[in-house]
Amino acid sequence: MKTALFYKNPKTLLNKGSGFLSDYTHSLNPYTGCSFACSYCYVRQMPVSLFREQPWGTWVDIKQEAATLLRKELQRAKAKGKVTIFMSSATDPYQPIEQKEEVTRSLLKVMAEEPPDFLLVQTRSPLVRRDIDLLQLLQDRVRVSMTVETDLDDIRKHFSPQAPPIQARLKTLQLLAEAGIPTQATIAPVLPSSEAFAHRLRPLVNRVCLDDFYMGDGSGGQRTKKLGIASLYEALGKPEWYEPTAYQLVYERLLRVFDAEEVYVSQKGFAP
Ligand code: SF4
Repeated sequence: MKTALFYKNPKTLLNKGSGFLSDYTHSLNPYTGCSFACSYCYVRQMPVSLFREQPWGTWVDIKQEAATLLRKELQRAKAKGKVTIFMSSATDPYQPIEQKEEVTRSLLKVMAEEPPDFLLVQTRSPLVRRDIDLLQLLQDRVRVSMTVETDLDDIRKHFSPQAPPIQARLKTLQLLAEAGIPTQATIAPVLPSSEAFAHRLRPLVNRVCLDDFYMGDGSGGQRTKKLGIASLYEALGKPEWYEPTAYQLVYERLLRVFDAEEVYVSQKGFAP
């Protein structure tokens, strides 16, 4: 689907970390909107989406002059104390248009010069590999959290057909690890997966985060319920995977191949 693009000049970039992100001092969104259009995206139920005429997933606002703004805000925030940043909470920082616009890259350049105490880069896009050079400059102050909700690409296509293929995400985790960048595989939300999933992740990461709609959508699963996600599980003939207990199956499978301290559940897995 074609994404409608809009150029915006935001007044602020760093937002106060709150709620699920209260472990962070700030969140940072280089874009508003998201071309990946995941069916289960909790942002669909937030004002940024509800008050927009176009449906979620069909539009992206590109933030102009973002690097200049971030430099000022970061310097101000650092002067006050510790700065920990979650990028991004309401978009993916590696939108397809990022290839051309380089907004996220420009922000990473600023952060490489003015390092925050910690930066978490949350994405599902292989495009993050383009910025390995900048991520390396942040050393242990950064972690790239790559969403891999399942190891089955047919399942991925069912829930988020516009998002990047699973195999490309796994390959990216491998490349990031080889470049010495701290990473984690983030199984969030837990979607139906195979028994081999944990074994596929084992050679790639030393850290896995697991989350589901009930713990991680900020409303005990109510936002997801409003999105009608249950029908997608029924269409698959896998309603049991929509149960609040479904994540435990994946958790147990992970614990057979990872040490317990390598597997994090929900908010703890996203913490700095
Ligand atoms: S990538 Fe993230 S922000 Fe974008 S639609 Fe999917 S869940 Fe929502």
